[in-house]
Amino acid sequence: MNKIIEFKYPYLSNFFKTAAERNRLFHSLILYGGNNYIQYAIALELARLLNCQKDGADDCDCQNCRWIRENKHPAVITISKIDNKTDSSKTVISEEQINNVLDILFGSSDYHRVFIFCDAKIGGLSEGELEAYKEFKSTGFNPPQGNDEEIWFPSGINKDCLSSVAANAMLKSIEEPENDVTFIFLTNNKDDLIQTIVSRSQAFYVPDVKITDYNTQFLSEYFKDYPLFKKNTALDFALYLFNYQTQNNLNGIYILNSIQYYLTEILKLNYNNKLLRTIIRDDIEKLNDSKKMLKSYIKEQMVYEDLAFYFEKRISG
Ligand SMILES: [Zn+2]
Repeated sequence: MNKIIEFKYPYLSNFFKTAAERNRLFHSLILYGGNNYIQYAIALELARLLNCQKDGADDCDCQNCRWIRENKHPAVITISKIDNKTDSSKTVISEEQINNVLDILFGSSDYHRVFIFCDAKIGGLSEGELEAYKEFKSTGFNPPQGNDEEIWFPSGINKDCLSSVAANAMLKSIEEPENDVTFIFLTNNKDDLIQTIVSRSQAFYVPDVKITDYNTQFLSEYFKDYPLFKKNTALDFALYLFNYQTQNNLNGIYILNSIQYYLTEILKLNYNNKLLRTIIRDDIEKLNDSKKMLKSYIKEQMVYEDLAFYFEKRISG
């Protein structure tokens, strides 16, 4: 599972992973909440889990995973008023677009087909939207079109951009779907979709998680040259973490989450740096291991030492 999504949405992440493995997902899903870009990332991640030729690992390099990250997979298709368009309507997902979807479904496919329905625009982003775009890019996925100057931005679908006529045209496919098809609707509020779709779908609330309660100031001394870590400071660092925790009455999970949060913030600022992205993902993987150690009652100081030696070792290769 994607590390950023897993960190922000452990419950959803677990649920989707298990459901995808056991093939127990509904054929129509609604993701609703305030942050449509993170919903879009979750939709792509789900498409990846459903299509991966290996074990679905975050860094899997199978062709399906690569295509989905690049947003070029032939069977993972974004449908909005500006995506996958063959007619000239500009303000709605047209009946023609829906008919094209139905035509695709008529043929057979080697892939698990995923259609992501949303509203979208290009450019004109607010400050908050730009932040959401950066967070999306830090997940390693790409938008279906646009670039860093002309940024593609998804928003929630509503009855204006997906009319009941267009929606009703695909009801039958939602009701009696092929086995290897998933429809995903991104919206702000379930009531923004027509009831006939809502009643046939499994809906998931995606809260707009802002993890602002992690004060990461205490990490800056040891992490100021990140991803580099100063030699022969591992034991000091471990002791420093332990003392900080004790003095501030915190627990080990909080300390590890703070480090993880710190790294995801670095990732957001450097989403185009592939090498750094790989390092951060490995580090987050290691932090997840550390959390598992804590949960199996290994003492905090030992967990910190193990983590600190990992940081120290990985710079010297
Ligand atoms: Zn794969």
